[in-house]
Amino acid sequence: MKRTFNFGAGPACIPTEVLIEAQKELLDFRGSGLSIMEASHRSSLYEDVHNEAISLMRELYEIPDNFEVLFLQGGASTQFTMIPMNLVKKGKIQFVNSGAWSKKAIKEANILNIKTEIVASSEDTNFDRIPENIEFDDNIDYAHITSNNTIYGTQYKKYPKSNAPLVVDASSDIFSYKIDWSDIGVIYAGAQKNAGSSGVTIVIIRKDLIDGVKDSVPSMLRYKTHAETNSLYNTPPTFGIYILGLTLKWIKGKGGIEAIDKLNQEKANLLYSAIDNSDGFYVGHAQKDSRSPMNVSFNIKDKNSELEAKLIKITEDAQMVGLKGHRSTGGLRASIYNAVSIDAVKALVTIMNKFKDEYNEK
Ligand SMILES: *Cc1c(COP(=O)(O)O)cnc(C)c1O
Repeated sequence: MKRTFNFGAGPACIPTEVLIEAQKELLDFRGSGLSIMEASHRSSLYEDVHNEAISLMRELYEIPDNFEVLFLQGGASTQFTMIPMNLVKKGKIQFVNSGAWSKKAIKEANILNIKTEIVASSEDTNFDRIPENIEFDDNIDYAHITSNNTIYGTQYKKYPKSNAPLVVDASSDIFSYKIDWSDIGVIYAGAQKNAGSSGVTIVIIRKDLIDGVKDSVPSMLRYKTHAETNSLYNTPPTFGIYILGLTLKWIKGKGGIEAIDKLNQEKANLLYSAIDNSDGFYVGHAQKDSRSPMNVSFNIKDKNSELEAKLIKITEDAQMVGLKGHRSTGGLRASIYNAVSIDAVKALVTIMNKFKDEYNEK
C-alpha cells in the first residue's frame, strides 16, 4: 500500500508509525480485549493513557510546574471565547492582527463586549508578514498573538515581549520548536494540525490565571472546572487524546522537539529554495523574514490561476493531496507539519522544478 502524501492544512498528516500503532491496538488495547475507544474514561485503562499524554507533553515541551495542561473540546475556536471569559478581569486586552485566525479571536472577544485593541497589523498587505514594532501595554489582562498564520504562511521567529500574560494560538505550530515560557500565560491549539487527530484541544495555562472567574461563566467554559478534575470533569475526547499521546511518543522517538525543529527547517528550506530559485516563476506569499516552516503559501507568476490549477492536478495525479491554496491567497499551499516526511517534500519539489522548466517562458 502506498500512502498518499498529505500536504493538507488540517486535519493533516499523521505519522504512519502512529497509525500503525493505533491499528495494532485497535481491537485489543494492552490485553484488555477492548478498543481504547470503548473504555470508560473512569477506568484505569484510559486514565493511564490520559496521564501518559500529559506527562510526555510536560517532558518534551519542558512545561514548567506552574502551568496546567488541559484537554478540552470545541477546537481552538472555542478558546477564542473561553480565554476572554476566564482571563479578563481589568477589562482590556490587546491583539496583534496577523491573519484570519487573529481576526476571529478578536471578533469573539468583541462579542463578549470586552475592550479590545489591535497594537499591530499586517492586513494592509494581505498578511504577508508578521507586523513589526509590536508593543503591548502593561495594564491589560493579556496580549494575544497567533504564532503561525496557517493561511498566509507566516510565523513569529521570536514571540514579542509582554509584561501582561502572552496568550498564543499555536494551532498550526505547537510542538515544532522549544518555548521560552517566561512571558507565556496560555498556549492553545487544536490537535488536528500538528499534534494528532481532531476532537481534542490542548490548553497549557499558567495556574494563577485560572482563578477569580465571574460566577456567570458556565462550568464547562471555566478552566478551573477542568483543572480541578485533571480534564476528567465530563467525558474527554478519549481517542483523540490517545492519538495525541502516540504522536508525542513519536516526537520523542525522533529525538524530541529540537530534533523535529531541525528537520522542519530542512524541509522548509527545500521548498523555499525551489521558490527562490525559480527565476520568479513561483512567488511566495510571505515576506522572507516572516516565512513559516509549517505552511508554505505561494502563487505562480502573475497569479496565473490556469497554471496553478494545472500544477495542482499534476500533484493529485502523483498521489499528493491538500495543495490548493486558501481562497484568500489563491495559488498553492504546502502544509509541511511535523508529520510530513522529507521524502514528501522532495517529491513535491521535483514536480515543481519540472513544471517550472516546462512552463516558464511559455
Ligand atoms: C485551524 C486554526 C484554528 C481553528 O481551529 P479549530 O480547532 O478548527 O477551531 C485557529 N487558529 C489557527 C491558527 C488555526 O490554524
